[in-house]
Amino acid sequence: MKLDILVFGAHPDDAELGAGATIAKEVANGKKVGIVDLTRGELGTRGTAEIRDKEAAKAAEILGVAIRENLEFADGFFTNDREHQLEVIKMIRKYRPDTVLCNAIDDRHIDHSKGSKLVSDACFLSGLIKIDTKFSGEDAWQEAWRPKLVHHYIQWKNLEPDFVVDVSEYIEIKDKAIKAYASQFYDPNSDEPETPISSKNFTDSVIYRARDLGRMVGVAYGEGFTTERFIAVKNLDSLI
Ligand SMILES: [Zn+2]
Repeated sequence: MKLDILVFGAHPDDAELGAGATIAKEVANGKKVGIVDLTRGELGTRGTAEIRDKEAAKAAEILGVAIRENLEFADGFFTNDREHQLEVIKMIRKYRPDTVLCNAIDDRHIDHSKGSKLVSDACFLSGLIKIDTKFSGEDAWQEAWRPKLVHHYIQWKNLEPDFVVDVSEYIEIKDKAIKAYASQFYDPNSDEPETPISSKNFTDSVIYRARDLGRMVGVAYGEGFTTERFIAVKNLDSLI
């Protein structure tokens, strides 16, 4: 199955927090979008890998993505080396996306910047025909494929975006998808330990950042991204 957009996240919930509304908007526009999580988030202070699997499946349904897979890399300890790059390349070649979205280039959690560079490097390497990969469980070799564009969403740190997507109509879907991760975020009835992302302040911040980015570009809500090359526009009318 060819996808238009493939979204990678170091942990289940990264894609939703960074790009959930953009994903929902692209799906509504008829684009085929998929999510690949690098780890199961098994080191998360709250919840378990099994709980997070279920939450990720629920969030995927809310966003309407075509596929969601998990590479089961080691949370906290995966590295950007040949072994991990090859696994990411297999996903890129399997789904042949034109656009890849991945983690923030700099963030509080070390897996975010690591995952960001790993996916970005794999997008480049995936285009080299002399790197052989096979579909798992099959004999067929995969064809080389390099996504045209790689963008990085913004998560914990307030990075300055290179562009902002108008997500005014989709902020509620994003909010719902984030709340599917009930074990991770604000829940006054939870007796699990507090974490930086379990405070009300954090979940509120996701929405008020979207509002603030929207304010800066003249729409109700926005999601910001950094990108790896200049943004080209077909004409001036395509800018809001
Ligand atoms: Zn994360």
